[in-house]
Amino acid sequence: MSNTFPAVVIEETDGKASTVLKQLTLADLPAHDTLVEIQYSGLNYKDGLALSGNRNKVARSLPMVGGIDLVGTVVETSSSQWKAGDQVLVNGFGLSEQHWGGFSRFQRVKSEWLVPLPAAFTPLQAMAIGTAGYTAALCVDALERWGHAQPGRGKVLVTGAAGGVGSVAVALLAKAGYLVTASTGRVDTHEYLKALGATECIDRASLQGPVRPLQRETWAGAVDSVGSVTLANVLAQMEYGAAVAACGLAGGMDLPGTVLPHILRSVALLGVDSVMAPMPKRLAAWERLARDLPADKLASMTTVAPMSELPKWAEAILAGQVRGRVVVDVS
Ligand code: NDP
Repeated sequence: MSNTFPAVVIEETDGKASTVLKQLTLADLPAHDTLVEIQYSGLNYKDGLALSGNRNKVARSLPMVGGIDLVGTVVETSSSQWKAGDQVLVNGFGLSEQHWGGFSRFQRVKSEWLVPLPAAFTPLQAMAIGTAGYTAALCVDALERWGHAQPGRGKVLVTGAAGGVGSVAVALLAKAGYLVTASTGRVDTHEYLKALGATECIDRASLQGPVRPLQRETWAGAVDSVGSVTLANVLAQMEYGAAVAACGLAGGMDLPGTVLPHILRSVALLGVDSVMAPMPKRLAAWERLARDLPADKLASMTTVAPMSELPKWAEAILAGQVRGRVVVDVS
C-alpha cells in the first residue's frame, strides 16, 4: 500500500469553494470503523452540485472529499459483521455532505452503511448503477407497493429519461413488463431509450407548458426526476388512483400545481429518498437491480472516466448533457 493516494477534495480558498485533486494519507481520513480500498465511484447530479462549489446545498463542511457513492474492498474493520476482503458498496448516508466520500482511493466509513456487493455485479457495474440506479429501483418499488400500475396495462411515464435515474427506471420498468413512455429533451437519445425498453418517447417540452389542474388521464404510473412544472403537469395527467414516485429536481425544486389531482382523482405523490433509506429498502432495491437490470442495457448506459475529468463531467451533468451514467475510476 503506497503512503499517499489521490482524492478529489472540495476546499475553501479565499472564501470560495474549489475542487482539487490532492494526495492524501490514511492519517487524513476520518475515524470511522471501516477502511475501504475503493475501486470505483460514480457521478450523480448531487456530485455535480457539490463539485460546482454549491456547498450550502451539498457539502456541509470543508474540506470535503466528494462522491456520494463508492464500491471497494474492506481493508480493516472493527465490526464483527464484516471482515477484510469483503466487497462492499455505499450509497448516500451523507457521503460528500457530512462525511468524506468516494472520490478517493481509500475511505473510512461506518460499517452500518455497508451493503454487500451483489454477486450479480462487478464493482464497475455496481457504480454504473450507483445512487441514481438504486433510486430508480426505490421508485419502482414505491409504485409497485402503491399497486395501481400493472404490467401490460396502461402507460408508465419516466421523466428525465436519458439521465441516470431515468435510464435505469426505463430499463427496470420495461423488464418488469410495464409499457414505458420516456420523456426526454434529447431527440438523439430516442434510439437509446427504445433499446432500454421504452415503447415510446415524448418531447419533455410537452410537459413544460402552463399547468392546467386536471388534464386528460394518461399515465398509470410515473417516475419523476425533474420536479417543478414537469411534475405538476404529470400529476395533472395521472389516471384516477395512480401514483407518481418523485425523487428529483433536475428541472427545479418548486411544484407549481394544485391539490385537484390529489383530492378529485386520488392521485398519490410518493416521495423517494435514497440518502437515509433504511437498510431493508436498500437491500430490496439492490435485489431488484440484480434480478431485473440486464447487463447489456447497463453497459449501454455506462461511460468510465478518471477522477481528473470530474470537473468536466460535473458541468455536463448539471447541464443535462450526460446520457446514462458516468463511473469514476479512482485508481
Ligand atoms: P441526470 O442529470 O443524469 O438526469 C437528469 C435528467 O433530467 C437529464 O438527463 C435530463 O433528461 C433531464 N433534465 C435536466 N434538466 C432539465 C430541465 N431543466 N428540465 C427538464 N428536464 C431536465 O441526473 P440524475 O439522474 O443523477 O438525477 C436526477 C435527479 O434526481 C436530480 O435532481 C437528483 O438530485 C435527483 N436524485 C434524487 C435522489 C433522492 O434520493 N431523492 C437520488 C438520486 C437522484 P433528458 O435529457 O432525457 O430530458
